[in-house]
Amino acid sequence: MLTVWVFGDQINRAIASLVDRTPGDCRVLLVTSAAKISSKRWHRQRLHLVLSAMDHFAEELRSEGFEVDQRQAPSMAEGLADHVAEFSPDSVEVMEPMSWDGRAMLERLDGELDVDVEVVRNNQFLCHYDEFEEWAAGRKSFKMEDFYRWQRTRLDILMEPAPGSGSKDGSKKAVPVEGQWNFDKDNREPPPNDGRSWPEITNFDLDDIDTGIIEKYLSDAGDNSDGDVWGAEPDGTWPVTREQALTRLDEFVETALAPFGPHEDAMLAAEWKLAHSVLSSSMNLGLLHPGEVAEAAEAAYQAGQAPINSVEGFVRQVIGWREYVWGVYWLWMDDDYRTKNALDATRPVPPVFTGEAGTDMACVASVIGHLHDHGYTHHIERLMVLGNLALTAGVDPQAMTQWMWASFVDGAEWVMLPNVVGMALHADGGMMATKPYASGGAYINRMGDSCKGCRYNPKKRVGDDACPFTSLYWDFLARNENAFQDNHRMGQQLAGMRRLKDLEDVRERAAEVLVLLDEGRL
Ligand code: SF4
Repeated sequence: MLTVWVFGDQINRAIASLVDRTPGDCRVLLVTSAAKISSKRWHRQRLHLVLSAMDHFAEELRSEGFEVDQRQAPSMAEGLADHVAEFSPDSVEVMEPMSWDGRAMLERLDGELDVDVEVVRNNQFLCHYDEFEEWAAGRKSFKMEDFYRWQRTRLDILMEPAPGSGSKDGSKKAVPVEGQWNFDKDNREPPPNDGRSWPEITNFDLDDIDTGIIEKYLSDAGDNSDGDVWGAEPDGTWPVTREQALTRLDEFVETALAPFGPHEDAMLAAEWKLAHSVLSSSMNLGLLHPGEVAEAAEAAYQAGQAPINSVEGFVRQVIGWREYVWGVYWLWMDDDYRTKNALDATRPVPPVFTGEAGTDMACVASVIGHLHDHGYTHHIERLMVLGNLALTAGVDPQAMTQWMWASFVDGAEWVMLPNVVGMALHADGGMMATKPYASGGAYINRMGDSCKGCRYNPKKRVGDDACPFTSLYWDFLARNENAFQDNHRMGQQLAGMRRLKDLEDVRERAAEVLVLLDEGRL
């Protein structure tokens, strides 16, 4: 009998290796790897989410009539070897993995086992990495915006026929709806201070599977009690089944999509998600397909339930940014993207990030609080608070990638590596982002509400009450002046730094800030 091997981030009946299978066709194998579990200091909700989704999926397949071999093993490869030894399948079929290491493992296995392992094409994205490579081939630069427009056009999402553009064969040139590709200018509003309530989400009941995982892996008395998990216990926030994920998608479209756009970049200490979709963990596990998510958003626009700026901003994240990150991960891993460190950043991840220290930086305390409670913060909190501090302080990009991968419910190497190495820490020297996303406290003050309750002053760059972001920002520019010398997009910022009359004092304060950051006393 055929074995279909399903990985923990391919949790969907419609994956390419399962979609046409019926019970009796095949046996399904799911392996939980002890090496993977002990490889990182996982956020509790992240570890629970993956294990619970796998267990629930196994139950769903069994109730459909499939025979499921769910086994724990020291590693994924050993799990397969044990399965082959016990069941002697005629062959094994597996869908292309989501990670470079997964692909390397399959290549190693080829010929090692006494069974053929057939790898089928991954269908979890709208743009397979082969197609991305074709799109990127020959381009001097491949900006996300260009890729996004290509995706919109070829997928026919938020497009309409251009007036009077019929060609001889009757086809029409397509143009973006409402005449624009991008409505970002409508989506940069600061946080509202009108005391409004934000859309609520369902917290799903934890069942026996969930409590079993919590007891086994997350409790002090469990198998995994050596302190390598952190964060609040699972509370049902994150969907672990497709049914729950579809509920979350419906909720988002009905209640949060319309208000999503205008405040998508805003940060509120008391509100961890605002109108963000909180669908990323479901898409990254496979519970939802990006195509159905984008279609649901487009349908809401067509039905007049949500304005174009909200729908376009959301669709851009799903079919643009998310797919672009997936594409560049596969394109650049060939070039050893994992080892990039263009700015020679070597600082360890700050203890305030890992929960080993508190902080007086109100914005950081707020974001780390969101992360502790939910294993999630929204994109601007990730980029402009955590990423910005790590960039300007010079945190090692590989260490930061590993920490974010382990700490976020939607973490995976394919998503964290380009976002950290390329986007947040500029460690790839500009392959992904043409300039670093560094800023002082002014941006956080404009887009968040933490500064007014902070003991630091976002406008000050020297002195004990100077905002650490502001001191570090100028120091970062001075420290990396040579690296940015030829980057015309950095000209204005470098000129601003050179004009500072108190630069020496600022750099002295920044040196103090870095010591305090390392010691967890900032
Ligand atoms: Fe953050 Fe600086 Fe504002 Fe404090 S003053 S909340 S550290 S940006």
